[in-house]
Amino acid sequence: MKIRILGCGPSYGVPSLNRGYGLCDPTNPKNFRLRSSVLIQDKGINILIDSGPEVRIQLLKAGSPKLDAVLYTHEHYDHMGGADDLRTDLAEGQPLPVYLSDTAIPHFKNILDYLFRPDTQNKTFDIRRIQPYHPFQVQDIKVLPIPQVHGHGLSMGYRIGDFAYSTDVVRMEERAFQALAGVKVWVLGVVTPIENDKHINVDMALKWIERVRPQRAYFTHMGARMDYETLCRTLPDYIRPVYDNMEIEIK
Ligand SMILES: [Zn+2]
Ligand SMILES: [Zn+2]
Repeated sequence: MKIRILGCGPSYGVPSLNRGYGLCDPTNPKNFRLRSSVLIQDKGINILIDSGPEVRIQLLKAGSPKLDAVLYTHEHYDHMGGADDLRTDLAEGQPLPVYLSDTAIPHFKNILDYLFRPDTQNKTFDIRRIQPYHPFQVQDIKVLPIPQVHGHGLSMGYRIGDFAYSTDVVRMEERAFQALAGVKVWVLGVVTPIENDKHINVDMALKWIERVRPQRAYFTHMGARMDYETLCRTLPDYIRPVYDNMEIEIK
């Protein structure tokens, strides 16, 4: 299985329009972060998690893989804003399966309102409703959705075999931690070292990693206080910050 980090930035990206690079070294290209999205490639199948506003550029850089499914973590713009760009030449393809929770489905239909009106025949997306802890198959690949608390809303983490992706989360129930047990590679959304009500901070991430004990853990969704080299110096060896276009292999 190959994981390609398409973007590891926070909702505003790094640099952001009004805050620039913040505490991140602007001379290090690893601190240039597009909005968060990840591509999973296994058994010839391509699964995208989230389509942020820069997804078109990100997928072009990844060689325009033909997507078999898109899994959405939640409805925030930085994760869903680029959905329209996933429209391909509809004349030749099947609708693209998109997996969404009950809360995310109306938002998806809302931002693509022109596709889902009663008088338009949506042939672009095949919306599939997911439920917490109910595994589903993308062809030969089993996917487990894991519910997460994200501020006042909810988000979904995903476990795919030995890999798990948990971003935009501040709290999880005991059962969610159990669902993550035995994972080899765990990618976590860690926006900032500062405590906040929507995302775990660095200290909480370290505690969670200690608890789940993956072989390797990675931080994504990193904001302007998360300088790449500083994190590499201060984190244990088996925990690394990611960077855009980084590839992680799981054997
Ligand atoms: Zn986000
Ligand atoms: Zn969010």
